[in-house]
Amino acid sequence: MHSDVESLLALQTEDQAIGEMEARLAALEPRLREMDVAHAAAVEALDRARRAVQAEEGAHRELQTRIAQHKLLHERNIAQLDSVRRMKEATAAMSQVEQARRILAEEEGALQGISRRLAELRGAAETHERALAELESQHRAERETIGEARAEVDGQLASRRTTRAGSAAKVDRVLLQKYDRIRTVRRDGAIFPLRGPSCGHCDTSVPMQRRNVMAARGTIEVCETCGVLMYAAT
Ligand SMILES: [Zn+2]
Repeated sequence: MHSDVESLLALQTEDQAIGEMEARLAALEPRLREMDVAHAAAVEALDRARRAVQAEEGAHRELQTRIAQHKLLHERNIAQLDSVRRMKEATAAMSQVEQARRILAEEEGALQGISRRLAELRGAAETHERALAELESQHRAERETIGEARAEVDGQLASRRTTRAGSAAKVDRVLLQKYDRIRTVRRDGAIFPLRGPSCGHCDTSVPMQRRNVMAARGTIEVCETCGVLMYAAT
């Protein structure tokens, strides 16, 4: 076999191996992105749950303050009731006391409702916290595995690229440029042997005279149909 053909085939073998390794690396990416998305969603859900707890805590504090104020007022009303002597004033004071008592009872009922909701919201926030922690621990393990796989392929890839550079150095420069140009558009290969009387890639037949020259001199020709490099296998 002609040495140009031999060097190009060696180069192509390296490029195919490199292509496979790059594909293996690329195949790891979707899962990493998927984990990023799932993590962001879990963080967002936890944030939302915590914001809901905070809002409810605010409402709880506000109502507690209001109840404390109303209790003071109520106590003042009762004290006033003790000090009034005349019937007319006593009736008014009494109705004031009654009204305040009713308001207080309503507010305390509302406070209980808020407390119940708050307990539920806190429970939900804790559930989201646990889910996030679980997800993170699961992702940590998975990212570690992916990281190891990636490091292994990266190592192989580096050594393969060194070998590739050595193989490329043995190829005639003009031929190498042609080969590299074809490889940028054809991932399935740049140099093919003739298959019978035809291009081994696209099956277009090659004139006999041209084939004879290729066989006799070991020349490399470009297929006019698909653009790959062709050689006559001996
Ligand atoms: Zn062809």
